[in-house]
Amino acid sequence: MGKTVLVTGGGGFIGSHLCERLLKDGNDVICLDNFFTGSKDNIRHLLNYPNFELVRHDICFPYYAEVDAVFNLACPASPVHYQYNPVHTTKTCVMGSINMLGLAKRRKAPILQASTSEVYGDPRIHPQPESYWGNVNCIGRRSCYDEGKRCAETLFFDYHRQNNVKIKVVRIFNTYGPRMLPNDGRVVSNFIVQALQGHDITLYGNGEQTRSFCYVSDLVDGLVRMMNTPDTITGPVNLGNPAEFTIRQLAELVIEMTGSKSKIVYHPLPDDDPVMRQPDIARARELLQWEPTIQLREGLVSTIEYFKKKLEF
Ligand code: NAD
Ligand code: UDP
Ligand code: UDP
Repeated sequence: MGKTVLVTGGGGFIGSHLCERLLKDGNDVICLDNFFTGSKDNIRHLLNYPNFELVRHDICFPYYAEVDAVFNLACPASPVHYQYNPVHTTKTCVMGSINMLGLAKRRKAPILQASTSEVYGDPRIHPQPESYWGNVNCIGRRSCYDEGKRCAETLFFDYHRQNNVKIKVVRIFNTYGPRMLPNDGRVVSNFIVQALQGHDITLYGNGEQTRSFCYVSDLVDGLVRMMNTPDTITGPVNLGNPAEFTIRQLAELVIEMTGSKSKIVYHPLPDDDPVMRQPDIARARELLQWEPTIQLREGLVSTIEYFKKKLEF
């Protein structure tokens, strides 16, 4: 028998794919979202499912429902969006987490936190294992998100130690795929949209900074596996694809795959932009028997297809 599962941020990019997967697995799904960056378009095709329920709500305010498990994904994830109202970003991470942890505590339900590689900041250790404490600026433009997510992890572990809440903390590394917003500001969506529209490709800095890109279906599989681990497994567990690329390599790949005539132009690097990022996924391999199966080129095919349709090419 399926469970009743709450997905906060279920109207967003990753959340909508997770809702789909949970429904497919036979669960009742409550998708909760304030639609700051999410959209009904992402989940419109699920609205007719009898096991799917949509709630418009902001997790900064208490929420009561009799659920069996919680995936806490609510939070803007792109730098452009989380810096738009930075105070609300911190509130979502901190007050939102307290409310969802209060709910999980009352329901004795497991709760998974979508944490982030940003907790490692601009890392001094490469690749990043979960044991690394990070290098984070607490007063910069990225801090509302980075420190918000770090404080959320603190709350998760304190609710676990103090109230025996069954926590599952995953640190998600750069994830991409269909349903990213075209104007999201994140690098994969920016480059694809610019390439398809024949606009300049905006490379920030010299393009030598690195990221490791995980396709969304791999990530969702990792989230579900983590939720299904025994109560003793709390994380944190890194989830991401260890294949590392410079941002210039990504730009060149997108230009090649779209057959675009766009030119690369250089813009200043944003403040505190991490120089390199690559997940050490040994722990996920061991605890979840998980590793990504879709490599960048393959994942870009369906992502480019999605944006072509979205932009009506
Ligand atoms: P997204 O912006 O598409 O999704 C976030 C969703 O949360 C949106 O639907 C938004 O409307 C909703 N939301 C934001 N604040 C809310 C609030 N206060 N109350 C209710 N809903 C709220 O981003 P995403 O890429 O799908 O990210 C999902 C989660 O995964 C986020 O917590 C993000 O921090 C985390 N994450 C994502 C990545 C990535 O590369 N995509 C990497 C690391 C961590
Ligand atoms: N909370 C919620 N839904 C619930 C249970 C609690 O939103 O089903 C909120 C509640 O408003 C509280 C927060 O979660 O402010 C933290 O709950 P906790 O039990 O830790 O704290 P307390 O109620 O003792 O302040
Ligand atoms: N980036 C870029 N051009 C863009 C958007 C982003 O060169 O149009 C760079 C950005 O400076 C960063 C990397 O791509 O070095 C990843 O940026 P994103 O915002 O996707 O994620 P994050 O910095 O949070 O990893």
